[in-house]
This record gives sequence, C-alpha cells and structure tokens, in this order.
Amino acid sequence: MKDLLEENLQCFIKALLPQPDKVLQDMRIYAEKHHISIVEPEVGNLLNLLVGLTKAENILEIGTAIGHSTIYMARAMSKGRITTIELMPERADLAAQYFKQAHVDAKIHQIIGDAREIFPHLEETYDLIFLDAAKGQYENFLVYSYDLLKPNGLIVADNILLNGWVVDLNYPKHRQKTFVYRMRDFLESFKVRKDYQCSIIPLGDGVALFRKKERNDEETGIVSACR
Ligand code: SAH
Ligand code: MG
Repeated sequence: MKDLLEENLQCFIKALLPQPDKVLQDMRIYAEKHHISIVEPEVGNLLNLLVGLTKAENILEIGTAIGHSTIYMARAMSKGRITTIELMPERADLAAQYFKQAHVDAKIHQIIGDAREIFPHLEETYDLIFLDAAKGQYENFLVYSYDLLKPNGLIVADNILLNGWVVDLNYPKHRQKTFVYRMRDFLESFKVRKDYQCSIIPLGDGVALFRKKERNDEETGIVSACR
C-alpha cells in the first residue's frame, strides 16, 4: 500500500506507537505474506482509543479478515461484544484462532457471509460500526447503519482515500475506475449529508468518522435534521 504521508513522517508516527504484542506481530507478518490488507498500527491504535472513548459495548465490524482490527477494538472493551462479518471462511477460521491466542474470543461473535446480504437483516443496535470491506458499498452501509446506531453512535470507515487514488486518479488498472469514482462520490457527499456529520483523518489509508445527526440537533442549530 502506498503511504499517504511522506515516508519519513509515516515512519516517525509509527515509531511513536506502543510496541504491539506477539499476536499482533504474528498477524501482521501473516497478512503481509498473504497480501491481506489489515489496518495500519496507527489506525489500530485509533480504533482502540475510539472504543475506549465511546465506551462502546456493542460493536459491528464489516470485514474481519484475520481479526487484527477486531483485536485492537476488543482490547478496549471491558464488557460487551463485537459482531464481525467476513466473506471468506478460511480467513474467519484463522481469525478465530487469533482471537483465542489474544484471549478476546469470549467477546467476539463471528458471522461468515456477504455483508451486503447480512446488513439489511441485522436487528441489534450498535455503539460503533467499523466498515472495512466492500468499499464500493460504503454509501449503502451508511444508509443501513442509520437505524442500527444507538444515539451518539459512531461509524468508522477505513481505506477511504484508496492509496491516494481519489485525488491523483492514477490508479493502476482500468477496471478500478468505477470503484475509485464511487469512493469520490461518497467523499463528496460529506459536504451535504443530512444524516451524518463527517470527518476525514488522513491516517493509514484514510479513515472517516461519522456521527449520526439526531432530530433535536436541528433545534440547537448545529446541524440540519435528517429524517
Ligand atoms: N478489518 C480487517 C481487514 C479487513 S480486509 C483488519 O484491518 O484487520 C477486508 C476483508 O473483507 C477481506 O478479508 C474480505 O474477504 C472481506 N470482504 C470483502 N467483501 C466482503 C463482503 N461483501 N462481506 C463480508 N466481507 C467481505
Ligand atoms: Mg482496511
């Protein structure tokens, strides 16, 4: 993955992070070897901080892969659970092993399947939703998430800057054009969204935060009403 920041700045930021433990280190080695795109350590650290800050007790994650980001979040939870969805059964199986090694398995409920099909049928409500799969579906996921988010709920979306392609449009393969344009449209929507207040953090491959706008936000004059 191309770093969004200058390499020396990127290295400097990474060097300021706490040292990951053996499980996290092993996972990163495995992910690099098998070309699985897991969160950068600084994004894992941010997730951990956000879960602690929001005291999230019910979390939904789209895109488990081998469970790296899940462990960062689980470690910030003193109680509650994370429901995490992964399309590929072999990745989910490996994630289950890592959850045991990291002693967080009791907090995690895994679902194997296509989030595009599962999402519309979810009925629980969540304090935090982490989107990290099917990047072309982020807009749809945001729409589904609206009713699933608890008041003051937070959505975190990863890889929103797509290696910087959203600005230089110098993406490698022609077939990715629609995908990149779709993400650009999604980012453009941040200016005018009535349902969420949004913020972009250019950390890792780009993270977006979304706060659900409530009806009474209108009365305060801070933001306009949503539904
Ligand atoms: N969150 C993980 C990385 C996820 S990578 C971490 O940072 O550690 C994205 C994962 O989403 C891949 O493992 C991929 O198999 C899965 N995925 C892709 N499309 C999906 C879909 N439609 N539904 C569920 N999972 C999907
Ligand atoms: Mg990601």
